Amino acid sequence: MNDATIGFIGTGTMGLPMVGNLLKKGFAVVAYDAVPAALDGAVKLGARAAASSADVARQSEMVVTMLPSSSHVEAVYLGPGGVREAIDSGRLCVDMSTIDPAVSRRVAAALAERGVRFIDAPVSGGVPRATDGTLAIMIGGDKQDVDDARPVLAAMGANLIHVGDVGSGEVAKLCNNLIAGVAAVAVSEAFRIAEGFGVDAKVLTDVISKSSGNTWVMEHMHPVAGIVPRSASTNDYAPGFMTDLMAKDLGLAVNAARELRIPVAVAPAAQQVLRLASSHGLGRRDFTSIYLFLKPSSTQAPV
Ligand code: NAD
Repeated sequence: MNDATIGFIGTGTMGLPMVGNLLKKGFAVVAYDAVPAALDGAVKLGARAAASSADVARQSEMVVTMLPSSSHVEAVYLGPGGVREAIDSGRLCVDMSTIDPAVSRRVAAALAERGVRFIDAPVSGGVPRATDGTLAIMIGGDKQDVDDARPVLAAMGANLIHVGDVGSGEVAKLCNNLIAGVAAVAVSEAFRIAEGFGVDAKVLTDVISKSSGNTWVMEHMHPVAGIVPRSASTNDYAPGFMTDLMAKDLGLAVNAARELRIPVAVAPAAQQVLRLASSHGLGRRDFTSIYLFLKPSSTQAPV
């Protein structure tokens, strides 16, 4: 399979290092991104540039997409100049974006009408693991399709988990990000309180990492700059994972819960913190920049 040409659409924050790993593992890559600077980045790594999503589909044996949200995925697959217009019957498409599971199923059904196969394979691990090629990949789709995609997915990830039918990778992903998003808000609040009492952030990190509040978010994505070397906060909150994208993921979780009539309390609260941070100019910075937003509101004594 490593002599196959992989089509890659969406060479942004995550897509770019993922393309890098496909190239390193010997795949040829033909890429497209709506933003020329993002596409240039992939070309610099060794990918060939395509003129549109349809062009990618024409020139590749398998199509991989890494796009911001549901509407982008629908447009890239089903819209004018999209994958469906040009792709041969029997080909396999792998969407690695985090989107609404219902949209994954809808795109899969629309492609199936043309005999095209589709699986969802969203990821976790952020830019560091995308760069190292060690992403966790949660996959929804037919077993044969998943097996066919494995060599390509293994070039980008270390933990490949087949969750169930199409859309179920997305269900697993939105459940994971519900927890990660809520944890990020909780960690940020805790470190602001500690700061207010004059407790050193490094010492508190040491305490929590050995205590019941320990979380992957604090270990790898610490919101306080200077504690975790590869964290976005240490790099002036450059994404990383944008505040707007985490707000979107919490929205997916809240919508899913609403459809199922499951009461959820903390996910909507965390989503609003992210939305507020976004409305104060932090939407395109890393989501851990909510820590900046949660600074004390005034110098007045508490009431
Ligand atoms: P991003 O915005 O940096 O990259 C997305 C790319 O898609 C951009 O370069 C954009 O120009 C391109 N794009 C948008 N519409 C397009 C179109 N119609 N045609 C072609 N290209 C188009 O986002 P990202 O951080 O790389 O995230 C991508 C997905 O991965 C999101 O769903 C996100 O939730 C998920 N994700 C991100 C991270 C992370 O740490 N950044 C981690 C896990 C999952």
